[in-house]
Amino acid sequence: MILNQAGTRRFRAYTSKHLDELLQRAGLGDDERLKVRAVATVLPFRTNAYVVDELIDWSAAPYDPMYRLVFPQADMLPETDVARLADLLKAEAPNAEVQAEANRVRAQLNPHPAGQMDLNVPRIGDEPVPGLQHKYPETVLIFPKQGQTCHAYCTYCFRWAQFVGDADLKFASDDIGQMVDYIQRHPEVTSVLITGGDAMIMGEPVIRRYIEPLLALEQLESIRIGTKALAYWPQRFTTDPDADSTLELFSQVVAAGKNLAFMAHFTHPRELESPLVESAVRRILDSGATIRTQAPLIRSINDDAGVWSSMWRRQHRMGMIPYYMFVERDTGPQDYFAVPLARAYEIFRDAYASVSGLCRTVRGPSMSATPGKVCVDGVTEVAGERVFMLHLIQARDPSLVGRPFFAKYDPAAVWLNDLRPAFADRFPFEVRESLQLA
Ligand SMILES: *Cc1c(COP(=O)(O)O)cnc(C)c1O
Repeated sequence: MILNQAGTRRFRAYTSKHLDELLQRAGLGDDERLKVRAVATVLPFRTNAYVVDELIDWSAAPYDPMYRLVFPQADMLPETDVARLADLLKAEAPNAEVQAEANRVRAQLNPHPAGQMDLNVPRIGDEPVPGLQHKYPETVLIFPKQGQTCHAYCTYCFRWAQFVGDADLKFASDDIGQMVDYIQRHPEVTSVLITGGDAMIMGEPVIRRYIEPLLALEQLESIRIGTKALAYWPQRFTTDPDADSTLELFSQVVAAGKNLAFMAHFTHPRELESPLVESAVRRILDSGATIRTQAPLIRSINDDAGVWSSMWRRQHRMGMIPYYMFVERDTGPQDYFAVPLARAYEIFRDAYASVSGLCRTVRGPSMSATPGKVCVDGVTEVAGERVFMLHLIQARDPSLVGRPFFAKYDPAAVWLNDLRPAFADRFPFEVRESLQLA
């Protein structure tokens, strides 16, 4: 019996092995369960007792937003693909055959958005440094080898391809010395972001091996930890055996004169309700760390201004700082979850307008795309033409940051590559043909 475990037990993941039993709890019939299992051969599924017992409202499944956050839906992938995979599962086809079909479907889902794999692979001389991305001049991302999973997977995850067991898709490393060497050779780097997966999936001794060598680097102003553990497994900071030593590590970062910025992923206000989350947040803040919050805007899960404003207000009250509202990326089941940019802007504005100035630290809706973070500032009319106003919050080329530009209004556009420049023949981040020729 995997269900109804107390939320305070030791962490144990539920995987596709447990999916059918969990779907029965949601009240799905045989055909529907088969289709969902078919989707789960393509997209990764993982959850745990806390999510199942504390977050999901089973009486509202499959429409409950927390259910939709972790459980695949039958219509997330093209119908014909789901039907073919369901037939294979029903016929108990050999695993290799199911996997081959699943791989074919995955390849259609743009598994590597924004050049996740090959853009800006840092090098020392000719040697690539695996596990690092030098994203912006001041910011380096670290992908620890032991951090390539999460306490549960979000159905909308843009890094889903990392979690489906295809070795080619992984780019993590545990050569910490080489990472430190790279950062030292790049004095412009002031901020390191430890991400994954979820950095907090690592036990304290492992995460300490990544963080401690960074403390001696005078150039570093901040160490960030990207995580959804506060939402999916707050016990990581309260009752887990390494909770106390983890918080000591956080204090050590602060004592070394650096900002420890805990970048917490919260999708829905429900994730903030448990007293366990409250005490986890309190303990992290008591270590001297800051907590900034971010999430993408997802159709059928949080595409409502009231959901966002109540989330920001609750976060603010708990001592966290709202940071980003993201636009769902162009990968995986994007069609299923996408909110048009025009609608995203309205939701952002309505939510932003109804919170105090102290919550207006949040920015968005923001597309983390190849040139950087593109923020949709509004829809307006200029010289009789309806346009989107945009700016880069963050850019590979810092000279482009904060400069307004325009795109033709398109109510159906969901991502940067759907947009066309207005009043110009190219966007500021697009390479000038004439300069290339010169
Ligand atoms: C947002 C983001 C960062 C950090 O950028 P900041 O604007 O400094 O928060 C780094 N990497 C990726 C992929 C991002 O989307």
